[in-house]
Amino acid sequence: MCIFLRPHHGMCFPFYEGKGYDADFTDHMGRVIRALSARPETPVRLTLSADAVCEHCPNNAGGTCADADKTARYDAAVLEACRLCEGDELPYADFAARVKERILDAGLRRGICGDCEWDAICAKHRREP
Ligand code: SF4
Repeated sequence: MCIFLRPHHGMCFPFYEGKGYDADFTDHMGRVIRALSARPETPVRLTLSADAVCEHCPNNAGGTCADADKTARYDAAVLEACRLCEGDELPYADFAARVKERILDAGLRRGICGDCEWDAICAKHRREP
């Protein structure tokens, strides 16, 4: 069974440290990350709609993100950088490796999601200026 994933969440996962919008959201996001880490061969299908993380997000209003323009911009940038398309299905490990190699290690992260409210956490972990 595949897990639906918004592309930009592939950037959030490596830096997740248990913080989020509320307790239900953080508990659930932690479970999603632990499940994918335990089984990195799990297929993920890339979606531009609400995904496995959004399911428990207080910003998810009936399947639409309250910050839809911004999150759509993040998703489009991740797809372009990773040479992937909406609907692509691949093992989580392969997707995570593409995000790491083509975005994080290439120094593109802040240019994609530097205006995210959680940016300081990711910058700290990457030791970005
Ligand atoms: S609903 Fe929006 S803010 Fe919430 S997890 Fe999904 S993309 Fe992120």
